[in-house]
Amino acid sequence: MDPYVETTRCTSCNECTNINKKLFAYDANKQAYVKDARAGTYAQLVQAAEKCPVAAIHPGTPLNPKEKDLAKWIARAKPFT
Ligand code: SF4
Repeated sequence: MDPYVETTRCTSCNECTNINKKLFAYDANKQAYVKDARAGTYAQLVQAAEKCPVAAIHPGTPLNPKEKDLAKWIARAKPFT
C-alpha cells in the first residue's frame, strides 16, 4: 500500500515538509502531498503522520523491508492506516 496524504484536509502547518522536503511537498494550493515515497524512510512517514494536526498522513506499508527498527514503525503506523 502506497503512502498518501489527504491533501484537501492539509492545513499547511509545515510539520511534514520540515521532516523531509523531498518526501512531502506542497501543491499549488499549499497543501501537502507525497512527492516521492522513495525519497525518505518509513520512519519519517510515521513520524510525519504522528505530527500532522489533522491526521491526514497515511504511511502505507514499508517500501524497504530492511529498514532499521521496522517492527516498531509498523506498530506506530497502525493508528494512521
Ligand atoms: S503535517 Fe499535515 S497539516 Fe501539516 S503540512 Fe503536512 S499534511 Fe499538511
